Amino acid sequence: MRHVYSGKVRELYETDDGVLLLVATDRISAFDHVLETEIPDKGKILTQLSLWWFDQLADIAANHLVDAAIPAEFAGRAMACRPLSMIPVECVARGYLAGSGLAEYRESGAVCGVPLPAGLTDGSRLAEPVFTPATKAPLGEHDENIPAAAVAELVGAEVAADVERITLDVYARGAELAARQGIIVADTKIELGFDADGLLRLADEVLTPDSSRFWPADQWQPGRSQPSLDKQYVRDWLTSAESGWDRHGGGPPPPLPEPVVERTRDRYVRAYESITGRRWG
Ligand code: ATP
Ligand code: MG
Repeated sequence: MRHVYSGKVRELYETDDGVLLLVATDRISAFDHVLETEIPDKGKILTQLSLWWFDQLADIAANHLVDAAIPAEFAGRAMACRPLSMIPVECVARGYLAGSGLAEYRESGAVCGVPLPAGLTDGSRLAEPVFTPATKAPLGEHDENIPAAAVAELVGAEVAADVERITLDVYARGAELAARQGIIVADTKIELGFDADGLLRLADEVLTPDSSRFWPADQWQPGRSQPSLDKQYVRDWLTSAESGWDRHGGGPPPPLPEPVVERTRDRYVRAYESITGRRWG
């Protein structure tokens, strides 16, 4: 087994048989920084939730999973995958306005070049989910929203159309299944890649709290930031006066206090349990 890559959250290994092991650590990133504090069980939760979703999405898109043994040291937190040639785009679908979509809308009335009606606010539901791709920024840099036409320039019109369709279909299925459990999927990001036969496959993680905004439907109230079962709690704490962190000062974020770690872990567990209907651990 060879170590091939360290991402913000995952460690990638390749086995002698050419299997890619995607190992999710307990690291958490926010505002393009990897925090020095870890969230216990987070890697296992992300992995188990992704595996559950890949099953639910099997009729929408092929995925990168292969049937291969996981080394005991990574039990529960790793996926055995095909190494894919990744499309260099963060494929985002949004059904609600938040985060960078909200910021762009407030500046221009549009998101990724898609004009939206006036009068929308933080947490507004969009009339139709929109495909809002972004560039994949190198470590420490910020992903930039790009128009769908820019994806066509990167990968060609035909592939771009497939990417958009798969992204919107994954979002629609995710939103539908989560809604049955009282969870709104406000937005989600997927990654896609080509296998050796040129087939486009769903890669990475899917519909997890790191790649999506999950909002308890019974607390949804546009016009404010929404209670959420994802990283938003950590972002909110880091930007609160309590953390003492100057986000634009260039310094690293402070360590998370124990109660913030506990509440963050609790949100990841609740996301897993409410979406899958299974108990965690
Ligand atoms: P990055 O480190 O690339 O900026 P990230 O911090 O989100 O992004 P992680 O999630 O920690 O990265 O690591 C996962 C990495 O593995 C990503 O770069 C992702 O694109 C890549 N990846 C996921 N699935 C596959 C696959 N099947 N084949 C090749 N690469 C993959
Ligand atoms: Mg990632």
